[in-house]
Amino acid sequence: MFNPTAETMSRDELAKAQLDGLKTTLRRVWGNPFYRTRLEKAGIGSPEDVKSLDDLRRLPFLTKDDFREAYPLAMSCVPREELLEFHMSSGSTGTPVVMAYTKNDLNQWAECMARCFAMAGLSKGDAFQIMPTFGLFNGGFGCYHGCRKADLFCVPASSGNTERQIRLMRDFGVKGFCSVVSYVPRIIEKLDAEPGGPGDIPSLKVGIFGSETFSDEMRRRIENRLHIECFDIYGMTETGGIGTTGQDCKCHCGIQVFEDQYITEVINPATGEVLPDGEFGELVFTSLTREAMPIIRYRTHDVCRILSREKCNCGRTSLRIDRITGRTDDMLIVKGVNFYPRQVEQALMEIPGVKDEFQIILETKGGITEVTVNVEAEGGVTGHTVAKHLRERLGFLPKGDVFPVGALPRSEGKAKRVIKRNLD
Ligand SMILES: [Zn+2]
Repeated sequence: MFNPTAETMSRDELAKAQLDGLKTTLRRVWGNPFYRTRLEKAGIGSPEDVKSLDDLRRLPFLTKDDFREAYPLAMSCVPREELLEFHMSSGSTGTPVVMAYTKNDLNQWAECMARCFAMAGLSKGDAFQIMPTFGLFNGGFGCYHGCRKADLFCVPASSGNTERQIRLMRDFGVKGFCSVVSYVPRIIEKLDAEPGGPGDIPSLKVGIFGSETFSDEMRRRIENRLHIECFDIYGMTETGGIGTTGQDCKCHCGIQVFEDQYITEVINPATGEVLPDGEFGELVFTSLTREAMPIIRYRTHDVCRILSREKCNCGRTSLRIDRITGRTDDMLIVKGVNFYPRQVEQALMEIPGVKDEFQIILETKGGITEVTVNVEAEGGVTGHTVAKHLRERLGFLPKGDVFPVGALPRSEGKAKRVIKRNLD
């Protein structure tokens, strides 16, 4: 464990740290007109109104739109000269979301990342290859700050150029790497095509994957082909970047949220009501230690559930959430059936001969949506087989089209799995 004191706190100690953190955070944001107006509108007269953790439910939600409205720095609660760095995500609607950091915020981020690395079995001196981009997107720098904190040997490869990625991993004896999971099939394809037969990267033991959901079957395929252990890292621009809200440990029994750093709630996305543990809903986070842009009840749009608040076999005491099922806004509705792209992926991977690349195409005409699932597969797999299996697993009958390996479009970053077309 990177920080045993923090990671094994008792429930009572955690509750106390959370209440203290919540009070501190409220006092901090009270001086910022952007937050204060929202709190006052919700009937909060002063930060001292919040006396217990239950009072959290009286506080208003924070949304991605709030971040956009506050662009670039209206949400900052510290003087400009205390800011050392910022990151930004664009999203589909134009105005970006900005997260700015004080020195303590960068330390908090690095601490969370270092805990994630330790959870994955990485320790001082291990070579770690960073495949997310270094730039406005938080992934590259988040890994970098974490490497520094955990004393890993950082290989700052950034994204793209798969042949060079493989070469760096071999030449520097890389033990772990971080990337988006949809990039891994690129690496495997290159290895499979190596002269002299399918190649390997013997030093590689750990893959840490963030920012995309992926199925258990995809995880198994990657683990078997690359002989590595996969970990799900969680965190987003608004919570402070990659790794801030946790990762699974070697027990792989859910993502451990750093409860001394964030309060986790799961709400009904339609009503805002807090749901009991075990029920699926939208994840909501409140930061407890962040300074520049703290979040209070931030709605992530990620669909998930709380799995357990019991101590894990590894000794960590944080609550554990399920792997992310999808985004509230990724949910697809076809003929009255709700489903997520990840469920399609899971179903496809169960068909022998089906490869890792797929597309879901939704075409709407006259109010009726038809779904086609394009997938790459070896000879012998037919569109009929694919369609039939999807009907069994998802409850509706899409059209299934099978393509030879290499025929579907590739991306170096996040894969675009869903394509919507309006034919009216
Ligand atoms: Zn554990």
